[in-house]
Amino acid sequence: MWCPDGNSDHPLSAEGYDQFEFARLGNPVRGYFSYGRFEAELISCFPDEKQGIQKYFATVRDICADVPFYNTCLPLTPFLRGYKSRPRSLATFLDTVTENRYLRAILAAPAFLYGVPIELASLEIHALVAHGYYSGAYTISGGGQAIVDAFVNRLKTQEGEMYSSSEVTGIRVKGGKVCGVDISGGGHIECDQVIFTGHPAHVIDMVPPGVFRPAYSTRLRELRNSLSMFAVFGQSSRPVELADGPLNYYLLPDENEVIPKSSLTPPHFRPMMMTGTAVRKGEILQGRENGIILLRLGYWDDVAGFAKSSPGNRPSAYEDLKENVARDMVSSAQRRWGDICGEIKPSAIGTPLTFRDELAAPDGCAYGAMHCLDQFNPDVRTRLPGLYLSGQSTLMTGVVGASISGLVGAGEILGLESLWEEVKTWQ
Ligand SMILES: Cc1cc2nc3c(=O)[nH]c(=O)nc-3n(C[C@H](O)[C@H](O)[C@H](O)COP(=O)(O)OP(=O)(O)OC[C@H]3O[C@@H](n4cnc5c(N)ncnc54)[C@H](O)[C@@H]3O)c2cc1C
Repeated sequence: MWCPDGNSDHPLSAEGYDQFEFARLGNPVRGYFSYGRFEAELISCFPDEKQGIQKYFATVRDICADVPFYNTCLPLTPFLRGYKSRPRSLATFLDTVTENRYLRAILAAPAFLYGVPIELASLEIHALVAHGYYSGAYTISGGGQAIVDAFVNRLKTQEGEMYSSSEVTGIRVKGGKVCGVDISGGGHIECDQVIFTGHPAHVIDMVPPGVFRPAYSTRLRELRNSLSMFAVFGQSSRPVELADGPLNYYLLPDENEVIPKSSLTPPHFRPMMMTGTAVRKGEILQGRENGIILLRLGYWDDVAGFAKSSPGNRPSAYEDLKENVARDMVSSAQRRWGDICGEIKPSAIGTPLTFRDELAAPDGCAYGAMHCLDQFNPDVRTRLPGLYLSGQSTLMTGVVGASISGLVGAGEILGLESLWEEVKTWQ
């Protein structure tokens, strides 16, 4: 695996897995980061479901066999042209795999990683996300910050300039092409290529009126957004070390779909996960000492009543809601995993409102516009020469999806297939 600026990647142990638990199912199920081992584990936990389990893994594998990002020997352009053209329903597919609700929840659990309710999820997107886990898991020394640092260093060596805390408020157009961007506070940068990686709905008001057709603007404005989360960041009294053994601990609902569509689903029927610090042989690979994160599925409707507030100016009812949710998440985690993590002390709490305001994410969506059935996410190219869209709302979601869409965005400018040929030499 290629790592920017020589940062070392670490395959997680062959014994590594995500631990899936339910309130009413006795033993935890180990979701190994290996097709073979995960399939064997599921067959041993659900012996009557062997055929369905085999069908599920074979289908995911088949779908991903045609994906160039997982098989770099394949050409890129034909895939991108036909991408998502005929998505199938994940829920309908799972109906053909099993009637066991626990097994169904475990197979559907990767949907938590792209934030789409199961009844809206497409089998193809599900396979793209799940395949990454079933084929092995990696971490990087220094975690996500190491990747950011590597990009910043590379930019410096190319004599690039970086502006942070600088909001782009407008995209200038001259002669029907991009000619620059305006920055809040009055700044301006001249350029003839812009890649916008924020939410596509926000780009409409940045370009002069008439640049986009009304139908395109409406389509971007009305994109349905992925679900959100409640997050508790804190410290545990015991280290939850992740390098060998469980990576993430999941508590999944006994009833209903694992990711329900309805925001009326009470919190204890929503999935929650706990993750700690990646440590190997005493070295912290990722995270802080005894650092711990709890994430629980959240909906915009949970906080919509406070939509008009802004950071530093929230009503006390919102602060109460936030504290109550965090308290409930901490006590659930301690009840379930207290022997592993000990006591959890929260240091920061995030809600869908936090993500809306801190990440410029409409509806607090954790994964941008939904990649789901019946929705066509925008292409990288736009009608305006020189303006490209990239990021999680375009091609695919998550950190991997954002990286892939970045590659495709750059490829649209530099030449897709030639860039793809170069990527192949990096391995
Ligand atoms: C709590 C949480 C946990 C997550 N965990 C995982 C995980 O474990 N694995 C995973 O793969 N994904 C995870 N995700 C999702 C992942 O963070 C996103 O998919 C990914 O960061 C998307 O990258 P992006 O570059 O498309 O968008 P972003 O990371 O949102 O970056 C877009 C950037 O553009 C900036 N921007 C927007 N508009 C403007 C403007 N007008 N001017 C200037 N700048 C602007 C924004 O400030 C932002 O910095 C998680 C998300 C959340 C909220």
